[in-house]
Amino acid sequence: MDYGMTPELEEFRREVREFVAMNAPDIAPRAGVRCAETAEELASLKEWTGKLYAAGYLGGDWPVEYGGQGGEHAVERSVVVGEEIARARASVLPGAANLIAHALFDFGTEEQRTKFLPGIRSGSEVWCQLFSEPGSGSDLASLRTRAVRSENGGFVVNGQKVWTTNGQWSDYGYMLARTDVDAPKHKGISAFIVDMKLPGVDVRPLREITGTSDFNEVFFDDVVLEPDALVGELNNGWYVANSSLSHERSGVAANAVRLRQGVGALKDLAGRLEQNGHPAVEDGYVQDRLGRLDASVAALSAMVYANVSRVSRKSERAFDAPMAKLLFSEIGVEMQRFALELCGEAGILVEGDAGALDGGRWQDEFMYARAFTIAGGSSEVMRNLIAERGLGMPR
Ligand SMILES: Cc1cc2nc3c(=O)[nH]c(=O)nc-3n(C[C@H](O)[C@H](O)[C@H](O)COP(=O)(O)OP(=O)(O)OC[C@H]3O[C@@H](n4cnc5c(N)ncnc54)[C@H](O)[C@@H]3O)c2cc1C
Repeated sequence: MDYGMTPELEEFRREVREFVAMNAPDIAPRAGVRCAETAEELASLKEWTGKLYAAGYLGGDWPVEYGGQGGEHAVERSVVVGEEIARARASVLPGAANLIAHALFDFGTEEQRTKFLPGIRSGSEVWCQLFSEPGSGSDLASLRTRAVRSENGGFVVNGQKVWTTNGQWSDYGYMLARTDVDAPKHKGISAFIVDMKLPGVDVRPLREITGTSDFNEVFFDDVVLEPDALVGELNNGWYVANSSLSHERSGVAANAVRLRQGVGALKDLAGRLEQNGHPAVEDGYVQDRLGRLDASVAALSAMVYANVSRVSRKSERAFDAPMAKLLFSEIGVEMQRFALELCGEAGILVEGDAGALDGGRWQDEFMYARAFTIAGGSSEVMRNLIAERGLGMPR
């Protein structure tokens, strides 16, 4: 389903595929694990990130003076890169590097750009996103972490963040904090850069249902920030954050590739499992479920390519990305539910359990699939956006 892929893009795809095969770190993929699990893995992910930037495969949409292709950059190229990395089941560093980079292009000072952008491009500095708090996720503007201005123009931060992906490995955090408690909630927030090694920053990894620690709680106890930690104007953080989030391509194209691989692996599994003396794949019910999944993934791919072509024509609609995100994450849950149904009792075993079917991936993927219905905006919030922006329904 390679809609809109011109011969030139297909040539680019071949080039990227070769690059990924030669350079991607040798980290065995584990279901539901996105972050490095050891310092060695982190080191190879950083090196890999640097290579992707150096080759122009990441950061293509950066301004030319900072190493990107600026207005010449074709969004389709980023999609191809994401798809090829997914196809190879290679890992990438999750985090907020691209978000803060765009915040700095649009709102930062020249000093901030000079200080932070080279570390992002080389992969040597890891960033996390310090936005969500307990009680402030979907309703982010209600956040309560305080940054109080001090006499030298700096700030003192107190509060707590949660769900901070990669926080345990991060050098810097891109943070939102309340700087005016009396202003309407969207108008009293500012954006900051936080050095994660500062005294008073306490990163506590959370253990997830799959046994891994991808995200963290982060506590701030009288953390002192210098005046140049502020990104953009004081109390303009809501605008800074939303503007940088608009540069975050949710990676749905890459996720569609992963879903397609999942359907293939399920067909394979159904061919190996026996039901009533026959391979399960010969059963009408199994064929129906597999067919529906296959068709849903094909529909998602079509939607993703249509969205990409709208982005490149600058005619993106406000409900395009929410529709694709909703479809992708809900298909994921559906697929993993069916996988466990197929596995039967064996489906309860997880990665690392002796005798687990397909190394236990199905149970781990089932448990992790729910995360995608929350991360980056929950399914309910996506439905609200589609209803309001797409269907014109009242709030
Ligand atoms: C894997 C993962 C990684 C993440 N990484 C980061 C990160 O690095 N940095 C960061 O800052 N955050 C991160 N998040 C946080 C993520 O942005 C929030 O979890 C998300 O915005 C939902 O917020 P919440 O968890 O507070 O849930 P809540 O907003 O409290 O939602 C609880 C429930 O209420 C529903 N709900 C809420 N509002 C509405 C509404 N208006 N209408 C209908 N239903 C509603 C939700 O759909 C959900 O079912 C991550 C989350 C996940 C799962």
